[in-house]
Amino acid sequence: MTTLYDSLISRVERPARYSGGELNSITKDWDAQDLRVALAYPDLYDLGMANLGLMILYDIINRRDDALAERVFSPWTDLEELLRQHEEPLRSLETRHALREFDVLGITFQFEACYSNVLNMLDLGGIAIRTEDRADDETIVIAGGSGALEPEPMAPFIDAFALGEGEEVIRDICDVVADWKRAGGGPRRELHRRLARIEGVYVPSLYAVTYEEDGTINSIDPIDDAAPGRVTRRVVQVLEPTLTKPIVPYMEVVHDRAVIEIQRGCTQGCRFCQAGMIYRPSRERTVEEVVEAAGELLANTGYDELSLMSLSTTDHSQIAPMVHALMDTYGDRGLKISIPSTRVDSFSVDISEAVARGKKHTLTLAPEAGSQRLRNTISKLVSEADILTAAENAFSGGWTSIKMYFMVGQPTETDHDVEEILRIASEVKAIGRKHIGKRARVRVSTSNFIPKAHTPYQWVMQCDAETLRRRHKILRDGCRELGVQFTWEDPEKSLLEAVLSRGNRRVADVIEAAWRNGAKFDAWSEHHDWSLWNQAFEECGVDPAFHAYRTRELWETLPWTHIHGGTEASYLRGEWLKTLEQEITLDCKRDPCNVCGMQNLDVDCKVKIADLVQMKVDDNPVQQERLMQERERLMVALNPVETGMAINPRPMAAGATIPVEVTPAG
Ligand code: SF4
Repeated sequence: MTTLYDSLISRVERPARYSGGELNSITKDWDAQDLRVALAYPDLYDLGMANLGLMILYDIINRRDDALAERVFSPWTDLEELLRQHEEPLRSLETRHALREFDVLGITFQFEACYSNVLNMLDLGGIAIRTEDRADDETIVIAGGSGALEPEPMAPFIDAFALGEGEEVIRDICDVVADWKRAGGGPRRELHRRLARIEGVYVPSLYAVTYEEDGTINSIDPIDDAAPGRVTRRVVQVLEPTLTKPIVPYMEVVHDRAVIEIQRGCTQGCRFCQAGMIYRPSRERTVEEVVEAAGELLANTGYDELSLMSLSTTDHSQIAPMVHALMDTYGDRGLKISIPSTRVDSFSVDISEAVARGKKHTLTLAPEAGSQRLRNTISKLVSEADILTAAENAFSGGWTSIKMYFMVGQPTETDHDVEEILRIASEVKAIGRKHIGKRARVRVSTSNFIPKAHTPYQWVMQCDAETLRRRHKILRDGCRELGVQFTWEDPEKSLLEAVLSRGNRRVADVIEAAWRNGAKFDAWSEHHDWSLWNQAFEECGVDPAFHAYRTRELWETLPWTHIHGGTEASYLRGEWLKTLEQEITLDCKRDPCNVCGMQNLDVDCKVKIADLVQMKVDDNPVQQERLMQERERLMVALNPVETGMAINPRPMAAGATIPVEVTPAG
């Protein structure tokens, strides 16, 4: 059975993507397990192996006595062609079983552009594309990851979505499916009902969606008493011990190094950032825990490079002692530390300096917006002085290149805000020249802003393609003049992502039609073909502009209204209104709770909110004073005066309106 598969993978580019057998991979006895789970990453092995979540789930399931977990990744086009030509199914890396032979297929939805690949994997693995077409004993398809929190575009293809952090919910799902199997199975609907009773599991087939004539949603209601009216994402209260025996790929992959998640969640509250909203609250590992885990990790993998992973690593309250402790303990063994995400400030440059140990090349800063006015509206608590001081410190400290990351097309953005990116780039370049002359390199890297579910911008239209192109041209021309490198994204690819990330259940037909037309690897520029999607939108009578370019009423029933991401809609609405007022929100990690909704899901947040209440009750003058001073400091530092902009927000594109006035219904 596997001889043909093995011979096919030996004929493709990079067979190591499919062969398995890597250090620390686990191959259990197939026949000795009650439950067999395939963990799928709908993109190449090269990317999927960098996904820590996948590795954690693999470890958790394989630790069970009654279950095994194996891996499968999207085959590149060369293998797909051979598989289809020989009518051979897609198989797992560990035991080469076809996907249809597993009890559960667990798929990671890390980004929306992978949806065409998901359907391709189901098809290649021999599993019916739509849930309704699957037999009672056919593989149960479960999706998790950030995309699962806006599940409707993929609803007809997925039996159940696991919402939120996976460590606990995966155990619950395994228990339910294993019990179900041991009891002899039965109608698929009954298994759906059992899964729907697990906290944080959404089973779309147990909900009915009704629409208004204008295409907006009238209601999303459960049609079975096992399904709750609102499904709340799972939150792990205390982080489990870090994974210290991950699989080490034989081939080079993205992020080829050991990883420790030193902190989960980010509460800086940047309004555009979905990760900041859906991974709350912030939870830290201790220095001792990280140092001990690092020792095991390095011994178990042979890596000498360690990535301290977090949404904002330099926000860890003990980051400096942690870096020094790691270097003191393992520096002699040649340990290199990498910090993937840093704040824009001189403290972060100091930390980057401490880990760089002389090998300084490119420092990445993410101001996100060029003008202070726009940084205030998105609540990015970074002043121009922060950016320029960071550049001074970096270039004077030996760095030769600074990459600055900005978003284009954010709500209320104008051409002037974009021109401000050029002004900052020019000042940073001048600082570089002052310190290291012509060796100074500055790069402006942009992405197109895409409004996401569960954020304060979930109601806002995406900036249209024409406006994005005009702003890209302003930046391209300006950067050329300044001698600054510039990178940008294709507006059409962003349009697709905008539709898939806020679409309703009707978009599912488009995804299937596009896949049948040949769409796959849509995250890859060389593969993404907008014409296939355009044709699919036309075939299905779905207007992409309805999902991407429409500003929603603040009280509209959204396709994810029944999914509770942790923050409450009332908080998100308030943040949107503060956007229009250019009012910042302080980080609850260092300042009082902002009552975002997480207090209903997390114990530490309850404590923090109790502190807030107490502070109000006590009218504690010391705390009040500190808060006022902090607000003042920020308001001075973030004063928009130098931009010359009026404070009134403007529409981001001609003809587009932003709902400045809000009238609550009822
Ligand atoms: S409930 Fe309060 S402390 Fe918890 S994440 Fe939200 S704002 Fe922060």
